[in-house]
Amino acid sequence: MPTVAAAPASVRSVTVLGATGSVGSNTLDLMAHHPGRFEVVALTGHSNPIALADAAIAHRARLAVIGEPQHYAVLKSRLVGTGIEAAAGAEALVEAASRPADCVMAAIMGAAGLAPTMAAVAQGRRVALANKECLVSAGALFMAAVREHGTELLPVDSEHSAIFQSIGASDPRSIERLILTASGGPFRTWTAEQLTAAKPEQALRHPNWTMGQKITIDSATMMNKGLELIEAFHLFPVRVDQIDVVIHPQSIIHSLVEFVDGSTMAQLSNPDMRTPIALSLGWPDRIAAPTKRLNLVELATLTFEAPDNARFPAIDMARAALARDGGATAALNAANEIAVAQFLNRRLGFLEIARLVSDVLNRMEQRDALAVATGIDGVLAIDAEARRIASELANSRA
Ligand code: NDP
Ligand code: MG
Repeated sequence: MPTVAAAPASVRSVTVLGATGSVGSNTLDLMAHHPGRFEVVALTGHSNPIALADAAIAHRARLAVIGEPQHYAVLKSRLVGTGIEAAAGAEALVEAASRPADCVMAAIMGAAGLAPTMAAVAQGRRVALANKECLVSAGALFMAAVREHGTELLPVDSEHSAIFQSIGASDPRSIERLILTASGGPFRTWTAEQLTAAKPEQALRHPNWTMGQKITIDSATMMNKGLELIEAFHLFPVRVDQIDVVIHPQSIIHSLVEFVDGSTMAQLSNPDMRTPIALSLGWPDRIAAPTKRLNLVELATLTFEAPDNARFPAIDMARAALARDGGATAALNAANEIAVAQFLNRRLGFLEIARLVSDVLNRMEQRDALAVATGIDGVLAIDAEARRIASELANSRA
């Protein structure tokens, strides 16, 4: 019988990008359950300097960086006398990500995380990747940088963590199919007519997961699964036609891998991000996570359905963007970020989110503005143009 390694692991230094968010605070919570095992190098936030300063003090960080420069004074004053360094702005985020650390947890929301996460990749150590938008915007460049720097990339997204574990040491040629599971979100059983009137507060009520606002809306539109399909394509050695999606409302099976011999491997756990976070921080060890254990008898039934692409077209849109290649996935992501923000501000209807993304992609394609991006600057230019067109179209509809 294999035994769990008994020897105390050496202290691992960790930076958390997006430390004030849902994944970030789950990461800090998990590390706090392992006193002496982790030390915090840097924590970053964006708009909440008090929460950031308090987290930096509680977790004895050496550096705290706030993205929005207008919050620097509050951050600095809250850290007076603690010995914790404070900084602000986009360059400081990149600098924090570049500070030597055994592991950088990339948990910023959106394409805003691209530059800092790429800086973390350039360290050539470990990046625990929650920020899926990095791979959606710049997957090929991102993975090329991972290979160039010999970086260990560990997926944090629960589906991709499940696939990573299910593949294990298998030969890539033995993989036939990846099956991403999706809860179906709060509107799984809603009619198209009901969806037309869906409100932000209803979309924010996810049945199984507590997450940041943007990903919760993405789960309601199923764009989250579209983004995850693109993420899986870049992380694992498969073609896009080898990736399927199945609706599994209980969110217990986090994804599956089917092999050429007909075996299917899966990873199961209660929906709690501290399980995939623990794997990404501890790997190759398994470290304890204080989560509720599965009770199969209590669960009794796990169910599955095919996704309904008519009500939720986002998965097909993501597939099509991946097939278009070039900057289409960067534009899809950027347009979606704007559409979600406009929906949350009640300036766009729920079904208009996917329509807006589709209109932006079509308009950019007509103008030949999706050409293969050269370098990160090229990706960021496509991202900026997609945001501009999305805002323009949304304003003209509001
Ligand atoms: P949250 O909105 O809860 O947190 C986002 C974090 O990023 C916060 O620390 C926020 O700072 C910071 N941030 C936001 N905008 C910027 C910006 N422009 N520049 C720098 N920092 C910024 O998001 P989640 O934790 O839910 O998600 C983070 C990432 O992880 C996303 O990519 C998401 O798709 C992915 N993910 C999340 C899961 C979850 O369970 N939540 C599951 C799987 C993946 P502040 O709060 O101070 O504004
Ligand atoms: Mg996920």
